[in-house]
Amino acid sequence: MTKSVLWFRQGLRLHDNPALIEAINTDDGRRQVTFYPVFIFDGESAGTKDVGYNRMKFLLESLLDLDEQFKQLGAPGLFIFQGKPTEIFQNLHDNIGINKICFEQDCEYNERDNEIKYLSRELGIEVVEKVSHTLWNPEDIIRINGGFAPLTYQMLLHTVNVLGLPPRPVNNEVDFSQVNFGTIPEHHKINLRLMKSIPSPEDFLIFPENTGSDVYVNWNGGERHALEQMIDRVKHEEEAFASGTYLPNQANVDLMGSPKSMSAALRFGCLSVRRFYYTIHDKFNEVQDKMVYKLPGGHHITGQLMWREYFYTMSINNPYYGQIKNNPICLNIPWKSSEEDEILKWKQGRTGVPIIDASMRQLLAEGWLHHTLRNLTATFLTRTGLWISWEVGLQHFLKYLLDADLPICGGNWMWVSSSAFETLLDSSRCSIISLAHRLDPKGEYIKRYVPELRNFPMKYIHEPWRAPIDIQEDIECIIGQDYPSPMIDIVQALQINCNRMKKIRESLIESQPHVRPSNEDEIRTFFWIADEIAIQCN
Ligand code: FAD
Ligand code: MG
Repeated sequence: MTKSVLWFRQGLRLHDNPALIEAINTDDGRRQVTFYPVFIFDGESAGTKDVGYNRMKFLLESLLDLDEQFKQLGAPGLFIFQGKPTEIFQNLHDNIGINKICFEQDCEYNERDNEIKYLSRELGIEVVEKVSHTLWNPEDIIRINGGFAPLTYQMLLHTVNVLGLPPRPVNNEVDFSQVNFGTIPEHHKINLRLMKSIPSPEDFLIFPENTGSDVYVNWNGGERHALEQMIDRVKHEEEAFASGTYLPNQANVDLMGSPKSMSAALRFGCLSVRRFYYTIHDKFNEVQDKMVYKLPGGHHITGQLMWREYFYTMSINNPYYGQIKNNPICLNIPWKSSEEDEILKWKQGRTGVPIIDASMRQLLAEGWLHHTLRNLTATFLTRTGLWISWEVGLQHFLKYLLDADLPICGGNWMWVSSSAFETLLDSSRCSIISLAHRLDPKGEYIKRYVPELRNFPMKYIHEPWRAPIDIQEDIECIIGQDYPSPMIDIVQALQINCNRMKKIRESLIESQPHVRPSNEDEIRTFFWIADEIAIQCN
């Protein structure tokens, strides 16, 4: 008799879940399976190590959704444990007799999964790991690329073209008719550390942030919600294709509209990335069939999902991915050493630069930020503004973003701070203020998240420090008193920092004139030299 566990970590769904299929079927299809769906709060998995209210709430809603779906199928529900996975599986083996564990590959926690594989070998438990959090198996990408992760996005595209299209999602409707749902006897529940019901964030002593601004958008977790939300999102894509464009979420920045992002659902796997990918590509082909002038097809239709693959692939086998030290793909740029007061102002949205403050407060209140605002706040912390290490920003985003995980968040931080990849040592300039005008032309976004500035005339909303004092008095918001003066001179800081970047780049090229990073070997040498120079600068 097979007693199998599906160990959920991410991949919080029933559709397109190869590990689930594996857990409820036996090879010969005849033997009976007793099935236990399991989630473990181990203080780390599923982004719970240092987590803000919104992401925790999203995760717990996703678990509740699974619990309800299993109950509808006649099961006792989702079994939620608290503790170390090795101990829990050992107990489940000893007390319940489980002999098979299935799970989805998780790029972030290799060590945890290796421990379970090791334990299972000792106990004679069969372990099955399936790839479905990414479109391709990152290990395959690395193998095809000659044993190391492709160091540029173009190289990733090249490699996946060799691999061919990603596998289509596995069957949408799972057949549970032959499944015997396992139970856990009452007397085992306490020693197994089984939780009585789905907890709330408050049960973990996690509370909403007090930001002084309201919560305007509530995100809800769960597979059923994600599948519904995807219908809207695909309509949005369809409209874009019909008008001859791609990637509508990034092309038309709408800071005030209802968000159409699936990224938190993808992060927790409430939505399968393959389901998302193929729904959009199939829609594209359907729209194309009706069009006279055809658009070129290809991976760029879901280009952002390729970035997702890229960063997952870059992160595996690199235990130093989230830091500068010892990280072979990250340049050691001589950032300022810790500036607690400046860091706190950035985190809390008290920099005195309205677009930055509105963004940082939205992040705390809702866990969400549009990509452009993530870029803007991240460059402000690092290469164009405060010249503070991206590691500080990464930790903050990892805690508060709904969709955060280390591979994607870390990759983007290295990218934005010009510490890695193709943007290495970028010294291009962009003005925060002109960007703020473009993104928020009516100042509505600022007024929503920075209520102190609600009565400022549009003319000064992005640079309130320029407003004459009589206007400030009139609207009862004195800059430097009711709202902070800008913490730095943003024009001057931009100039100084861009020159810094330029200098590092120049000295790098000067010291090794033959190195123009264009292929992987040269990029590796480039990183190595850059590291040497950063050490000298420090
Ligand atoms: P869409 O354009 O619709 O993209 C579809 C999906 O592709 C997203 O849901 C996401 O899964 C993936 N994706 C999109 N952009 C990127 C990207 N640049 N890199 C990798 N994958 C991408 N995204 C995360 O999912 N998790 C993070 O922790 C995260 N941290 C970020 C940190 C910084 C500093 C920056 C600049 C960006 C970060 N992003 C992160 C990427 C991006 O901002 C979000 O994925 C995007 O805003 C989600 O919105 P969307 O669903 O409308 O994106
Ligand atoms: Mg999305």
